[in-house]
Amino acid sequence: FPSLDVHLQDCKARTMCGSHSRGSALRIGVFGPAADVQCRAVAREAAALGADTLFIEPDALDRGLPLSMLDGRTLYLGEPVDDVRGFYLRGIPAPYAPSLERDGELVLYEDWFTTFMHTRERASYYVAWLLQLAHRGVTLVNGPHAASVMQYKPFQLHALRSLGARVPRTLISNDPAAIRAFHAEVKDVIFKPIMGGAVTRVLEGEALGRLEDVTASPVIFQERIPGADLRVMLVGEEIVSSVAIETPEQHLDFRADPVYSGGGASYREVPLPEPIQRFCREAARACGLTFAGIDIKHQGDDWVFLELNSSPIYLDVELKLGHPISRAIARCVVEGARP
Ligand code: ADP
Ligand code: MG
Ligand code: MG
Repeated sequence: FPSLDVHLQDCKARTMCGSHSRGSALRIGVFGPAADVQCRAVAREAAALGADTLFIEPDALDRGLPLSMLDGRTLYLGEPVDDVRGFYLRGIPAPYAPSLERDGELVLYEDWFTTFMHTRERASYYVAWLLQLAHRGVTLVNGPHAASVMQYKPFQLHALRSLGARVPRTLISNDPAAIRAFHAEVKDVIFKPIMGGAVTRVLEGEALGRLEDVTASPVIFQERIPGADLRVMLVGEEIVSSVAIETPEQHLDFRADPVYSGGGASYREVPLPEPIQRFCREAARACGLTFAGIDIKHQGDDWVFLELNSSPIYLDVELKLGHPISRAIARCVVEGARP
């Protein structure tokens, strides 16, 4: 995005050198990679609102950069950062066990345990640091329990259902007998992991023959819902964007379309009826999300909620339709950061 990059260079120059002396200018924080296009877009919009941006990069600890909590104060790269009263959180790195490919198979790296334990400590440090910021009244978009590490689809479905929003008939289970019974009753069934990270698939053929595999960890099974895939962007109380994602071919999961993964998706604006907007706001609140990317299946009068994403990718919609999502996030963080 060349034109965006020019703006960003300006913004970076302001952010790093700053025409204001440090300590007097309003600063917001971005907990995310300085090279991430969404983080940069938010920083650019914050600059337009008169705030400088301090990036704290989530891989700082992997790189051994100094980050300390000293008697309740935070020092990053040796400098105090406690003046920062608002953060945009792009994502907290999750613990992982490193693997490598050997003879075409993925195997654990010999020293995986050490790396795994380090990544676990780092994740715990970040979450605890962010929790104490939230506790001190710092604005976090979104808070640490919502900003990745873990995703809680089963809780989101519960929250949506208890608000009265329509969700697919759902079984979340590691019990092959329960899954067979659900499939016999519902018939057209899809499955997907609790944590995401895999394309949704139809429960049929080979998958039906491998149900014993799920005893190791529960999987989400759902009635298959027809209709368009909507993505709603909610920031605070405002629905900033609401679009149907359109790909040339029909897929169960639109991300399976090569045109989508190649950046060629197009979007059609879909206005939401007031009750559906209310479900979006109330569900986000119940899930502790100030900023949410909400997935809905839509056909006619039927609006069926699938999930709420706490750190959704949105820049493609922003650039193609001009929906001011980065601006809304920046406004929320900057307003929250003001004394
Ligand atoms: P993820 O976190 O992986 O995005 P989603 O629940 O949003 O999880 O599922 C991904 C996509 O799969 C959805 O956007 C939709 O296209 C499709 N999908 C998921 N659940 C269903 C369902 N019950 N019926 C029809 N399509 C579904
Ligand atoms: Mg989704
Ligand atoms: Mg998701």
